[in-house]
Amino acid sequence: MPATLIDGKKIAAQIKQEVKAGTEKLKADRRITPGLAYILVGENPASEAYVRMKGKGCEEMGFYSITERLPANTPESQLLELIRRLNHDRLIHGILVQLPLPEQIKESRVLTTIDYRKDVDGFHPVNVGRLVTGQECLRPCTPVGVQELLVRSGNDPGGKHVVIVGRSNIVGKPLLNILLQKQPGANAVVTMAHTGARDLSRLTKLADILIAAMGRAESIKGDMIKPGAVVIDVGINRVEDPTAKNGYRLTGDVHFPSVSQVAAAVTPVPGGVGPMTIAILLRNTLRAAQGNIYSD
Ligand code: NDP
Repeated sequence: MPATLIDGKKIAAQIKQEVKAGTEKLKADRRITPGLAYILVGENPASEAYVRMKGKGCEEMGFYSITERLPANTPESQLLELIRRLNHDRLIHGILVQLPLPEQIKESRVLTTIDYRKDVDGFHPVNVGRLVTGQECLRPCTPVGVQELLVRSGNDPGGKHVVIVGRSNIVGKPLLNILLQKQPGANAVVTMAHTGARDLSRLTKLADILIAAMGRAESIKGDMIKPGAVVIDVGINRVEDPTAKNGYRLTGDVHFPSVSQVAAAVTPVPGGVGPMTIAILLRNTLRAAQGNIYSD
């Protein structure tokens, strides 16, 4: 039987409804409007699409939002100065710097300069440390989006064997740390695979839940998964397609036609994890505006 589709657009819309309701309450009770600052250094077509989606999301939620565009040759000191100013701006509760940055700017210095209480991407070392130790914090958007997709589609990871392929600092590693916490919506047994794995398919076949975050178009095939597994495709890859209007199409890391014949449930690309990332970014901004995350 073909797999059920896990609809990221629908689940993201539910989360946005909750964020909107939370925002209205925060405005009514405490006269606080969540504010998000987005910093873009240089030009990149993928980032432009993200700016548009983020702007639309903020508008829908009733947030205050600003976008700071800096040229590609901006010195690091100027970017750090802007971040420090936003750290002190009372109207701004979330600061997001689009990665990757031009080579004259050191990413780690940028991430540690953002006030961790405004770090809606969850990349500041304080947030990384708190995530690993299971403390309350702002958590990275895409990994939390994956967790929400699982829970809200009736595929709670508790007690399941989750195999994550990809160990990046923005997806794989935080996701591992989220799913193995002894907490509701987590408590999974997690295996993490990467290019060092000698036999990737032996590992992927063990997964009750397989999460592909490799950035390798359509490389997880149907014969690499256990029948009845749940498959989450984080990948977004551009592949050439002469039949497409702009000459390319977007595809995931999962070979959808073969995997959907074997899996119980699978996310599409686009329309799976992608919409969740923005929804969680908006939720993180609301949480930052509500405060009290770091009261322990
Ligand atoms: P990175 O390139 O930073 O990391 C890729 C990881 O996959 C690495 O750990 C790499 O291993 C591993 N890997 C690559 N090829 C293989 C292979 N053949 N076998 C086993 N492991 C492999 O990517 P990101 O984590 O930043 O992104 C992953 C994908 O997710 C991309 O397609 C990206 O566009 C997408 N993405 C989607 C988002 C969304 O909102 N939906 C948000 C963020 C990312 P090693 O460490 O050994 O090199």
